[in-house]
Amino acid sequence: MRIDVLSIFPSYFDGLTLSLLGKAQDAGILDLRVRDLREWAFDRHRTVDDTPYGGGAGMVMKPEPWGLALDEIAGDVAAGEAGPPTIIFPSPAGEVFTQRTARDLATREHLIFGCGRYEGIDERVFEYASQLGEVRLISLGDYVLNGGEVATMAMIEAIGRLIPGVVGNPESLVEESHEDGLLEYPSYTKPASWRERTVPDVLLSGNHAAIAAWRRDQQFERTRRRRPDLLPSDDAAQS
Ligand code: SAM
Repeated sequence: MRIDVLSIFPSYFDGLTLSLLGKAQDAGILDLRVRDLREWAFDRHRTVDDTPYGGGAGMVMKPEPWGLALDEIAGDVAAGEAGPPTIIFPSPAGEVFTQRTARDLATREHLIFGCGRYEGIDERVFEYASQLGEVRLISLGDYVLNGGEVATMAMIEAIGRLIPGVVGNPESLVEESHEDGLLEYPSYTKPASWRERTVPDVLLSGNHAAIAAWRRDQQFERTRRRRPDLLPSDDAAQS
Protein backbone atom coordinates (compact mmCIF):
# COMPACT_ATOMS: atom_id res chain seq x y z
CA MET A 1 0.00 0.00 0.00
CA ARG A 2 1.12 3.53 -0.73
CA ILE A 3 0.32 6.31 1.74
CA ASP A 4 1.09 9.97 1.08
CA VAL A 5 0.78 12.50 3.88
CA LEU A 6 0.59 16.27 3.43
CA SER A 7 1.37 18.32 6.52
CA ILE A 8 3.09 21.55 7.54
CA PHE A 9 4.76 19.55 10.34
CA PRO A 10 6.21 16.50 8.56
CA SER A 11 8.50 15.60 11.45
CA TYR A 12 5.46 14.51 13.48
CA PHE A 13 5.57 11.36 11.39
CA ASP A 14 9.12 10.34 12.32
CA GLY A 15 7.58 7.96 14.86
CA LEU A 16 6.12 5.89 12.05
CA THR A 17 9.61 4.71 11.14
CA LEU A 18 9.65 2.70 14.41
CA SER A 19 8.32 -0.73 15.33
CA LEU A 20 5.99 -2.72 13.06
CA LEU A 21 5.24 0.08 10.61
CA GLY A 22 8.94 0.87 10.30
CA LYS A 23 9.64 -2.78 9.52
CA ALA A 24 6.78 -2.83 7.02
CA GLN A 25 8.38 0.08 5.20
CA ASP A 26 11.78 -1.63 5.22
CA ALA A 27 10.15 -4.76 3.81
CA GLY A 28 8.41 -2.80 1.03
CA ILE A 29 4.91 -3.69 2.30
CA LEU A 30 4.14 -0.06 3.09
CA ASP A 31 5.32 2.87 0.99
CA LEU A 32 4.88 5.92 3.25
CA ARG A 33 5.75 9.35 1.82
CA VAL A 34 5.42 12.42 4.01
CA ARG A 35 5.54 15.80 2.25
CA ASP A 36 5.64 19.35 3.56
CA LEU A 37 2.66 21.30 2.20
CA ARG A 38 4.89 24.40 2.09
CA GLU A 39 6.71 22.84 -0.88
CA TRP A 40 3.70 24.08 -2.86
CA ALA A 41 3.59 27.60 -1.35
CA PHE A 42 5.60 30.00 -3.46
CA ASP A 43 5.55 33.41 -1.79
CA ARG A 44 8.53 34.60 0.23
CA HIS A 45 7.12 33.29 3.52
CA ARG A 46 5.67 30.11 2.01
CA THR A 47 2.28 31.09 3.35
CA VAL A 48 -0.38 28.40 3.68
CA ASP A 49 -3.09 30.33 5.60
CA ASP A 50 -5.14 33.48 5.36
CA THR A 51 -7.99 35.27 7.15
CA PRO A 52 -11.51 33.83 6.82
CA TYR A 53 -14.06 35.40 4.48
CA GLY A 54 -17.01 36.61 6.53
CA GLY A 55 -14.78 37.33 9.52
CA GLY A 56 -14.26 35.30 12.67
CA ALA A 57 -11.39 34.07 14.76
CA GLY A 58 -8.37 32.22 13.44
CA MET A 59 -6.92 31.51 10.02
CA VAL A 60 -7.98 29.17 7.23
CA MET A 61 -5.66 27.07 5.04
CA LYS A 62 -5.45 28.52 1.53
CA PRO A 63 -6.64 26.35 -1.35
CA GLU A 64 -3.74 26.94 -3.79
CA PRO A 65 -0.99 24.88 -2.07
CA TRP A 66 -3.47 22.04 -1.49
CA GLY A 67 -4.56 22.03 -5.14
CA LEU A 68 -0.99 21.91 -6.44
CA ALA A 69 0.06 19.25 -3.95
CA LEU A 70 -2.92 17.03 -4.71
CA ASP A 71 -2.43 17.48 -8.48
CA GLU A 72 1.16 16.37 -8.17
CA ILE A 73 0.56 13.40 -5.88
CA ALA A 74 -2.63 12.11 -7.48
CA GLY A 75 -1.18 12.85 -10.95
CA ASP A 76 1.92 10.90 -10.01
CA VAL A 77 -0.29 7.91 -9.46
CA ALA A 78 -2.44 8.45 -12.55
CA ALA A 79 0.78 8.16 -14.54
CA GLY A 80 1.59 4.83 -12.92
CA GLU A 81 0.34 1.76 -11.17
CA ALA A 82 -2.80 2.11 -9.05
CA GLY A 83 -6.27 3.55 -9.64
CA PRO A 84 -7.59 6.79 -8.10
CA PRO A 85 -6.47 7.38 -4.50
CA THR A 86 -8.68 7.64 -1.43
CA ILE A 87 -8.11 11.13 -0.05
CA ILE A 88 -8.66 11.49 3.69
CA PHE A 89 -8.95 14.80 5.49
CA PRO A 90 -8.96 14.36 9.28
CA SER A 91 -11.70 16.60 10.66
CA PRO A 92 -13.70 16.80 13.90
CA ALA A 93 -16.68 17.41 11.60
CA GLY A 94 -16.22 14.11 9.74
CA GLU A 95 -17.51 10.52 10.11
CA VAL A 96 -16.05 8.83 13.21
CA PHE A 97 -13.10 6.50 12.62
CA THR A 98 -13.74 2.93 13.82
CA GLN A 99 -12.19 -0.50 13.33
CA ARG A 100 -14.65 -0.97 10.45
CA THR A 101 -13.25 2.16 8.77
CA ALA A 102 -9.72 0.84 9.31
CA ARG A 103 -10.63 -2.50 7.72
CA ASP A 104 -12.20 -0.76 4.74
CA LEU A 105 -9.24 1.58 4.19
CA ALA A 106 -6.73 -1.26 4.59
CA THR A 107 -8.05 -2.73 1.32
CA ARG A 108 -7.15 0.42 -0.70
CA GLU A 109 -4.01 0.63 -2.78
CA HIS A 110 -3.33 4.31 -2.25
CA LEU A 111 -4.31 6.68 0.56
CA ILE A 112 -3.56 10.39 0.76
CA PHE A 113 -3.94 12.16 4.12
CA GLY A 114 -4.30 15.96 4.19
CA CYS A 115 -3.58 17.33 7.65
CA GLY A 116 -5.43 20.53 8.45
CA ARG A 117 -4.18 23.19 10.87
CA TYR A 118 -5.55 26.53 12.13
CA GLU A 119 -9.35 26.63 11.71
CA GLY A 120 -9.17 24.03 8.95
CA ILE A 121 -8.94 23.96 5.15
CA ASP A 122 -10.83 26.09 2.59
CA GLU A 123 -13.98 24.06 1.81
CA ARG A 124 -13.37 24.16 -1.95
CA VAL A 125 -10.35 21.88 -1.54
CA PHE A 126 -12.63 18.96 -0.59
CA GLU A 127 -14.81 19.52 -3.66
CA TYR A 128 -11.77 19.75 -5.92
CA ALA A 129 -10.12 16.67 -4.41
CA SER A 130 -13.23 14.62 -5.22
CA GLN A 131 -12.30 14.94 -8.90
CA LEU A 132 -9.04 13.14 -8.13
CA GLY A 133 -10.32 10.31 -5.95
CA GLU A 134 -12.78 9.35 -3.23
CA VAL A 135 -12.75 12.00 -0.48
CA ARG A 136 -13.43 11.07 3.16
CA LEU A 137 -13.57 13.51 6.06
CA ILE A 138 -12.80 11.44 9.14
CA SER A 139 -12.87 12.31 12.83
CA LEU A 140 -10.89 10.57 15.52
CA GLY A 141 -13.60 11.36 18.06
CA ASP A 142 -15.74 14.11 19.49
CA TYR A 143 -13.01 16.47 20.60
CA VAL A 144 -10.81 19.04 18.87
CA LEU A 145 -7.10 18.58 18.22
CA ASN A 146 -4.72 21.34 17.11
CA GLY A 147 -4.05 19.67 13.77
CA GLY A 148 -4.63 16.58 11.67
CA GLU A 149 -1.20 15.03 12.32
CA VAL A 150 -2.02 13.05 15.46
CA ALA A 151 -5.31 11.86 13.95
CA THR A 152 -3.50 10.79 10.77
CA MET A 153 -0.86 8.89 12.75
CA ALA A 154 -3.56 7.05 14.70
CA MET A 155 -5.36 6.13 11.49
CA ILE A 156 -2.18 5.02 9.71
CA GLU A 157 -1.30 2.80 12.65
CA ALA A 158 -4.77 1.24 12.83
CA ILE A 159 -4.92 0.73 9.04
CA GLY A 160 -1.28 -0.29 8.65
CA ARG A 161 -1.46 -3.17 11.12
CA LEU A 162 -4.28 -4.70 9.04
CA ILE A 163 -2.18 -4.85 5.87
CA PRO A 164 -1.21 -8.50 5.34
CA GLY A 165 2.35 -9.15 6.54
CA VAL A 166 2.60 -6.18 8.92
CA VAL A 167 1.64 -8.05 12.11
CA GLY A 168 3.60 -11.29 12.41
CA ASN A 169 0.78 -13.47 13.75
CA PRO A 170 -2.47 -12.58 11.93
CA GLU A 171 -4.49 -14.51 14.58
CA SER A 172 -3.68 -11.80 17.10
CA LEU A 173 -5.67 -9.36 14.94
CA VAL A 174 -8.82 -11.51 15.00
CA GLU A 175 -9.15 -11.64 18.78
CA GLU A 176 -8.75 -7.95 19.45
CA SER A 177 -11.19 -5.39 20.81
CA HIS A 178 -13.72 -4.21 18.22
CA GLU A 179 -12.98 -7.00 15.74
CA ASP A 180 -16.19 -8.81 16.71
CA GLY A 181 -18.05 -5.79 18.06
CA LEU A 182 -16.93 -6.49 21.66
CA LEU A 183 -14.03 -5.42 23.83
CA GLU A 184 -11.21 -7.92 24.29
CA TYR A 185 -11.12 -10.27 27.30
CA PRO A 186 -8.49 -9.63 30.04
CA SER A 187 -4.98 -11.00 29.44
CA TYR A 188 -2.43 -12.35 31.94
CA THR A 189 1.12 -13.67 31.78
CA LYS A 190 3.59 -15.22 34.23
CA PRO A 191 3.92 -15.27 37.21
CA ALA A 192 0.60 -16.92 38.17
CA SER A 193 0.66 -15.02 41.46
CA TRP A 194 1.90 -11.43 41.71
CA ARG A 195 1.56 -9.11 44.71
CA GLU A 196 -1.21 -11.32 46.15
CA ARG A 197 -3.15 -11.21 42.92
CA THR A 198 -3.68 -14.52 41.15
CA VAL A 199 -4.50 -15.38 37.58
CA PRO A 200 -8.08 -16.80 37.20
CA ASP A 201 -7.96 -20.59 37.74
CA VAL A 202 -9.64 -21.39 34.46
CA LEU A 203 -6.66 -20.01 32.51
CA LEU A 204 -4.36 -22.47 34.28
CA SER A 205 -6.73 -25.42 33.74
CA GLY A 206 -5.61 -26.42 30.25
CA ASN A 207 -9.32 -26.85 29.38
CA HIS A 208 -9.54 -25.02 26.06
CA ALA A 209 -13.35 -25.08 25.82
CA ALA A 210 -13.69 -23.68 29.36
CA ILE A 211 -11.09 -20.99 28.59
CA ALA A 212 -12.89 -19.97 25.39
CA ALA A 213 -16.24 -19.79 27.26
CA TRP A 214 -14.72 -17.75 30.10
CA ARG A 215 -13.13 -15.33 27.64
CA ARG A 216 -16.40 -14.86 25.78
CA ASP A 217 -18.24 -14.15 29.07
CA GLN A 218 -15.57 -11.65 30.01
CA GLN A 219 -15.93 -9.91 26.66
CA PHE A 220 -19.67 -9.44 27.18
CA GLU A 221 -19.24 -8.45 30.83
CA ARG A 222 -16.57 -5.85 30.02
CA THR A 223 -18.44 -4.45 27.08
CA ARG A 224 -21.67 -4.18 29.10
CA ARG A 225 -19.82 -2.37 31.89
CA ARG A 226 -17.54 -0.09 29.89
CA ARG A 227 -19.15 0.35 26.48
CA PRO A 228 -22.84 -0.62 26.56
CA ASP A 229 -23.30 1.48 23.41
CA LEU A 230 -21.49 -1.28 21.45
CA LEU A 231 -24.06 -3.94 22.37
CA PRO A 232 -27.41 -4.57 20.71
CA SER A 233 -29.96 -2.86 23.00
CA ASP A 234 -31.34 -6.19 24.40
CA ASP A 235 -27.89 -7.25 25.66
CA ALA A 236 -27.13 -3.82 27.08
CA ALA A 237 -30.46 -3.79 28.95
CA GLN A 238 -29.41 -6.89 30.94
CA SER A 239 -26.56 -4.96 32.54
N1 SAM B 1 -12.47 24.71 13.16
C1 SAM B 1 -12.51 23.26 13.03
C2 SAM B 1 -13.87 22.76 13.48
O1 SAM B 1 -14.43 23.30 14.41
O2 SAM B 1 -14.35 21.76 12.89
C3 SAM B 1 -11.41 22.63 13.87
C4 SAM B 1 -10.04 22.89 13.36
S1 SAM B 1 -8.80 22.06 14.26
C5 SAM B 1 -8.27 23.27 15.39
C6 SAM B 1 -7.47 21.97 13.10
C7 SAM B 1 -7.34 20.64 12.41
O3 SAM B 1 -7.15 19.63 13.37
C8 SAM B 1 -8.52 20.17 11.58
O4 SAM B 1 -8.52 20.75 10.30
C9 SAM B 1 -8.27 18.69 11.51
O5 SAM B 1 -7.33 18.37 10.51
C10 SAM B 1 -7.63 18.40 12.87
N2 SAM B 1 -8.55 17.83 13.86
C11 SAM B 1 -8.99 18.43 14.98
N3 SAM B 1 -9.77 17.63 15.70
C12 SAM B 1 -9.84 16.48 15.04
C13 SAM B 1 -10.52 15.25 15.27
N4 SAM B 1 -11.29 15.06 16.33
N5 SAM B 1 -10.37 14.26 14.37
C14 SAM B 1 -9.60 14.43 13.28
N6 SAM B 1 -8.93 15.58 13.00
C15 SAM B 1 -9.05 16.59 13.87
